[in-house]
Amino acid sequence: MAGMSIQPAALAKSLNADYAALPSLELLDVTVNKVFKNKIALVSSFGTEAALLLSMAAEINPATPVIFLDTLKHFPETLEYRDKIIALLKLTDVRIVKPEPSAVKSAGELWKTNPDGCCHIRKVLPLEEALTGFEAWINGRKRIHGGLRADLDVIEYDGRRIKVNALAGWTQEQIDAEWEKRALPEHPLVPFGYTSVGCMPCTALPKPGEDARSGRWAEFAKQECGIHIGKKWDDFDTGL
Ligand code: SF4
Repeated sequence: MAGMSIQPAALAKSLNADYAALPSLELLDVTVNKVFKNKIALVSSFGTEAALLLSMAAEINPATPVIFLDTLKHFPETLEYRDKIIALLKLTDVRIVKPEPSAVKSAGELWKTNPDGCCHIRKVLPLEEALTGFEAWINGRKRIHGGLRADLDVIEYDGRRIKVNALAGWTQEQIDAEWEKRALPEHPLVPFGYTSVGCMPCTALPKPGEDARSGRWAEFAKQECGIHIGKKWDDFDTGL
């Protein structure tokens, strides 16, 4: 990368000022193929909206590294959909990352009592390892998701790495139109009413009148799985 002579927080601010207004495809092109060439990955859940960002990444560079966190608690439908999307978009570098078997064994059904700790073991730690060597990562969070995402910058620094929130400003209408234009297949759980899909134990149908992510960790105040919180591993106590 051109940059890491300046501090990542300052670099993120400067990149955000320069590139936040670019159309998303151009933003992906400049970050993947120039600014962070060979030093950036895309992290995807292969959830209900994921194919849009993946399709755009495949268009600008199908060899973009894509990281999928296999928590071992996904719906089988998500795993089938993942493989279908990889083949459809001809993505050539998808990395399926799993948690440490011993940690998963110790955690048991931790999602019932301590979902932050469970996400830490099944998502945050494996992602941190998978991102070793990368300076930045791309994700599909959007301001329309609300909650902690409502004020999202397009390019930010989370204390660990620079994050490119390539679709931060997209509206639902824009997403739907681009989805149709690209003829993308829907996640198999969408016809059943799911608007956001994560792990099976922590995904329910959205609540009537509430946002698309209201079915995630529905019994807890939790809004994010931890990979977007920027917590340092060392500072987190899983309670185990
Ligand atoms: S979403 Fe639920 S099951 Fe998946 S890692 Fe987080 S707490 Fe565990």
